[in-house]
Amino acid sequence: MPTLAAHLKRRIADEGPLSVARFMEDALGHPRLGYYMGRDPFGRDGDFITAPEISQMFGELIGLWCVVEWQAMGEPTPVNLVELGPGRGTLMADALRAGRGTEDFLESISLSLVEISPALKGLQEEVLLAAGDVRRVQSLRWLSDFSEIPEGPLLLIANEFLDVLPVHQFQMTADGWRERLVGLEDGKGEGGAEDGFRFVLDDAPPTDDRVLSDLADLANLPGAGEGTVIEIRPRAQALITDLARRLAETSGAALFIDYGHTETACGDTLQAVKGHHFQNPLDHPGEADITAHVDFGAIGRAAADAGAQVLGPVSQASFLKNLEIDVRAEALAAASPAHSQNIADGLKRLTSDEAMGQLFKVMALISPGMAPPPGFE
Ligand code: SAH
Repeated sequence: MPTLAAHLKRRIADEGPLSVARFMEDALGHPRLGYYMGRDPFGRDGDFITAPEISQMFGELIGLWCVVEWQAMGEPTPVNLVELGPGRGTLMADALRAGRGTEDFLESISLSLVEISPALKGLQEEVLLAAGDVRRVQSLRWLSDFSEIPEGPLLLIANEFLDVLPVHQFQMTADGWRERLVGLEDGKGEGGAEDGFRFVLDDAPPTDDRVLSDLADLANLPGAGEGTVIEIRPRAQALITDLARRLAETSGAALFIDYGHTETACGDTLQAVKGHHFQNPLDHPGEADITAHVDFGAIGRAAADAGAQVLGPVSQASFLKNLEIDVRAEALAAASPAHSQNIADGLKRLTSDEAMGQLFKVMALISPGMAPPPGFE
């Protein structure tokens, strides 16, 4: 079977350099050879570990957050419960278990999992059925895009989802902004990777109107000068605009958790992780997770412009402490003393400054008129 690197090289030879966004999109989501399509990348033996895989407390607290918002919405039935990029299904299984205790909550749910990977869809189904609570929901479906979610009230969760959506990169030159592209070794450029890919700059200036208007805003950022790289993420902007319009029309609440920056800033944040180590993002496409930091400033502006109320971002530590993760940790440790070290380790990884506590941020988008949700008061 040809590798994704070989496929991308052929494409570049035929069509010329690809945008970073296109490279990222194929590296992660190429139907046969994309990173997520055929594997389970999570956990100690995989490439990286995410919050729900670190501790059950993460999904449980988010499940309780959903219950509170459902009650604030007047307990609609059915209510769309949506997760974007559910990974192994662990967060959802923990969230549904936490929702068990609230009368009619599980029975009101119309559950939609938005996932592109056939391998992970299979795993999500297995994990949810084994946990069992999913049997109580009204309906369950897998969709490939947010736009397919049925109409009606909405609760949405996305942990480490926005960071996988493709970014375009632009670099300031003496002649203005130029898009950063991925070309081949024999082309001019810097940052050569083992497979022979390297970054090059587009000869011509960008022409897309939306890109031009974003770039005009970003040119005034502190520190922007010749050589500066900036990132824009049109797929995320479009998704947030769609979601915020829905929240303006129908009641709902959405929670985005990701690593990134609170305010829009300059800088190249493209990164690749394989086997828990960083590598050159252009090395071995399809075999490593490629992501870029989430610009919560841009997300918040897109959501507010489309009519949603924006809360945060707050740090993951502040959000989880506000939801009383310490109390939950104590209760779990009291119920199973043999696991108390594990529980304490999980709490520390999720909330400490040295681990995920500050790097990860949480933003809520809710319908206008709703009170601030838990975690943001
Ligand atoms: N939320 C999970 C997984 C995060 S990894 C956790 O916290 O553990 C990103 C997830 O998004 C994976 O499930 C991946 O297959 C999925 N994904 C990646 N690109 C996607 C896209 N364009 N549409 C839907 N799902 C996508």
